[in-house]
Amino acid sequence: MNQPLIGITACHVTTKEGHPAVRLLRAYVTAIAQAGGVPILIPPDLDEPAWQTLLPRLDGVLFSGGADIGPEHFAGELHPTIEVEAERDAIELPLLRAALNADKPTLGICRGLQVMNVALGGTLYTHILDQLPGALQHDWHDKPRSTLAHPVRVEEGTRLAEILSAPMLKVNSLHHQGIQKLAPGLKATAYTPDGLIEGIELPENKFTLAVQWHPEWMTEHAEMRRLFRTFVEAAQ
Ligand code: MN
Repeated sequence: MNQPLIGITACHVTTKEGHPAVRLLRAYVTAIAQAGGVPILIPPDLDEPAWQTLLPRLDGVLFSGGADIGPEHFAGELHPTIEVEAERDAIELPLLRAALNADKPTLGICRGLQVMNVALGGTLYTHILDQLPGALQHDWHDKPRSTLAHPVRVEEGTRLAEILSAPMLKVNSLHHQGIQKLAPGLKATAYTPDGLIEGIELPENKFTLAVQWHPEWMTEHAEMRRLFRTFVEAAQ
């Protein structure tokens, strides 16, 4: 059986020797491979003709975590903590729209959820702690990435609920931004107790789903392995 090709967006870094590099944390690669997909790195360097060439050959696209989205893309409030990677915004926003137009199975993780919301016309809190009254702690970067930080309530009747088959579960949390205004057409599928949306999907698409947490660091939990497996199966 042919294994589906899953493109995964990557970021730019500088190695400790000072060399520019393209980076993708291995947890994404391992999670996709374990779910039966072939992980393919999508460097932010691709121009539009290049990614337009690549996209039809991919069976699914995973929009990975990373830097903040430039607030100019959603008229967001400026905040001193914002750290953007403009090259990723430049490829990922149009790539996501093209993937959805082609009804290509798409999974968004953390920044990937934010890319999905912004690409479809939604907005973000640019620093949850200062902008969402009563916000929980969502930035747990000083703890191991698998740390279960807060609960999420999963909305009944959603694709996400069907996959996770748990109405309430604890997840990790490695973000300081989040959805403020949900984009038209998207359905909220999970909420934290402070009211933040942590899951979204496009109900009419084959598989267009995103989560604010990092399931790739939670693959010891059967629910999260199921999330990757369902995505890869949809791409099959
Ligand atoms: Mn969170």
